[in-house]
Amino acid sequence: MANGLNSHHAVYVGSFDPLTLGHVDIIRRGAAIFDRITVGIGINPDKRPLFTPEERLSLAQSVLSPLKNVELRCFEGLTVEFIRLCGARVLLRGVRTLSDIETEFTMTLANRALDPEIDTLFLMASERYTHVSSTLIKQIAQMAAGSAIGKLNEFVPHEVIEPLLRKYSRSSAKNEIPARPNSCES
Ligand code: ADP
Repeated sequence: MANGLNSHHAVYVGSFDPLTLGHVDIIRRGAAIFDRITVGIGINPDKRPLFTPEERLSLAQSVLSPLKNVELRCFEGLTVEFIRLCGARVLLRGVRTLSDIETEFTMTLANRALDPEIDTLFLMASERYTHVSSTLIKQIAQMAAGSAIGKLNEFVPHEVIEPLLRKYSRSSAKNEIPARPNSCES
């Protein structure tokens, strides 16, 4: 802890609007490597998210509570400032594709220029989640009919499905989405 920042503590930030199984996969992997993971739910005043920060926090809490070394916080402002506030030395990012890496590369250089003491670590989610993004999930929830809605549980934690469909005044009841155990309990 030479610079006052804890190398065994990583911060994973995002909009999590909503939390997906891709995010959960990265958080689980991070929690198995680091002593402590803080999930930072970003509040961006320029964006109009589907879920309020409080809703995103509460949904993530219900999914991630079995992971005892994972904590959740909402934050506003620069990611590196939030990481320093947490006392962590590592920014954890998830990558899906080569094009993700291009964007992440630029962001990492910018973050390094802003705070050279914070390093970024990239993890790959399982290939099952390569195509999963919060944007895609919102489109499916809004537009899909019948069995496609039933497929949502391949993309998001079970706890997220009903609140997500409710946002579009839809319900999972008639689509027979099977109940599943919490995705953080194995
Ligand atoms: P942002 O608002 O920054 O796009 P997201 O909530 O979409 O945030 O994602 C947060 C982090 O999770 C980013 O590092 C992103 O690359 C990663 N991520 C998102 N979806 C996946 C996935 N399916 N597999 C692996 N990493 C992912």
